Amino acid sequence: MSTTLAEKSALVIGAGGLGGPVLLTLASAGVGRLLLVDDDAVETSNLNRQPLFADADIGQRKAAAAARRLARLFPTVKVEAFDRRFDDASALDLTRSADVVVDGSDNFATKFLASDVAVASGRPLVHGGVLRYTIQLLTVLPGKTGCLRCLFEAPPPPGAVPTCADAGVLGPLAGFAGGLMGAEAVRLLSGERGSYAGRLMVYESRGARSRTVPVRLREDCPSCRSLPRQAEAAPVEVERARPEGQA
Ligand SMILES: [Zn+2]
Repeated sequence: MSTTLAEKSALVIGAGGLGGPVLLTLASAGVGRLLLVDDDAVETSNLNRQPLFADADIGQRKAAAAARRLARLFPTVKVEAFDRRFDDASALDLTRSADVVVDGSDNFATKFLASDVAVASGRPLVHGGVLRYTIQLLTVLPGKTGCLRCLFEAPPPPGAVPTCADAGVLGPLAGFAGGLMGAEAVRLLSGERGSYAGRLMVYESRGARSRTVPVRLREDCPSCRSLPRQAEAAPVEVERARPEGQA
């Protein structure tokens, strides 16, 4: 008999607008062990899109508050909460402790670190981002499909792209993206390939438009080039990429 989701584990980076729905999706699917890492405290402005927290949690540490809420809702799930930053000092140990990594962080430095460490550790990564009315999803299968650096090479310079804090996020859209990311992680833990593996999915909610962009493993990617190449079973069918904002 194959292993069940109860024997699987996931690391979720961030317990906020993306990480909260990810954690709820993973726990309700029956994933047995959840590691969450977050170094923030709950603020009033979080409550529109961070479903693990309520008014009474304002001022509390997010890691502890999220763990308490998950324990109440899903007592059989083992939750390990880390009230710290996912950074150079913690990334490798945390990543190696889980079967899959889900990145719900809110900044480019953490997103590139998550991609680099997942690739180096051979852990599949579900990447997600949300800004204003748009979400992006990408699954990285180390050695098989392109990583964040294969796609973007490097984080944008500071100030070039507005942060969620500056530009804002449509609350329900973060919940939508987080739910999709959680479902993708469940697929990976179930032995499926993943719907966003090798393809960046972009959804723009105001126009209700989505498109997918192929993300191939680049020979000269500083993150992927040291890995042994693994054969892909079949090419992924993708729509032709279009520039952002085209009607
Ligand atoms: Zn790469």
